[in-house]
Amino acid sequence: MQLSFIFKHNEKSLKEYLESSLGSIIDLTTTENSSRMLSVRLRGGITYLRVHRIFLEAGDKILDEISQFIRKRRGRTPLINEFIRANSEGIKANSKRKLSVNPEGRHYGLKVFFDSINEEYFGGRISASITWGKRTSRSSVRRRTLGSYSFNTNLIRINPLLDNRKVPPYFIGFIVYHEMLHAAVGVGGRPGRRSIHSKEFRRREKLYKDYEKAIAWEKANRI
Ligand SMILES: [Zn+2]
Repeated sequence: MQLSFIFKHNEKSLKEYLESSLGSIIDLTTTENSSRMLSVRLRGGITYLRVHRIFLEAGDKILDEISQFIRKRRGRTPLINEFIRANSEGIKANSKRKLSVNPEGRHYGLKVFFDSINEEYFGGRISASITWGKRTSRSSVRRRTLGSYSFNTNLIRINPLLDNRKVPPYFIGFIVYHEMLHAAVGVGGRPGRRSIHSKEFRRREKLYKDYEKAIAWEKANRI
């Protein structure tokens, strides 16, 4: 239940950051399109901005250069170029990893959990993908993470240790819900602040219908 890397923004907070620095409305889409990292179109007073997901991790200086670029629609963008160059390996790795999404386990299919939780708790708005993580030999598992959510790839990973008939469905559901909540809540507060399990997060976590049961099961089984 940990984030797998340090992030700065989610789509919502990035949009808000750019809007406040530009003073106008932005329709922001994040993409996996590595051949078109950033594109801007202005129509009817709205700026349509499409950026690769990697920009969710960009620092404020780079974001300010994006604002400038939107404002002027021309000019050099050395920081953006450098950022893309520095992240090109990660971008490639991410698109490769994206191919190995595997929600069908031996005992549990994660997509069913994801879809029903998305409907019930999030109005169907969570766009993340979900997959079982790769099985590793037990001895190499040092730090046990039951699930993770990556803002960068918009991917939820669930630990394959849970793909076991001894694990009750409500517990799988709880872990999936927890990670979807990360996707929904984002960083919280101001951009750059890293409150992963905020008070608000903990409050909403308890809204899961089998919350008490799931916590009790986790304690009893020390999974
Ligand atoms: Zn968490």
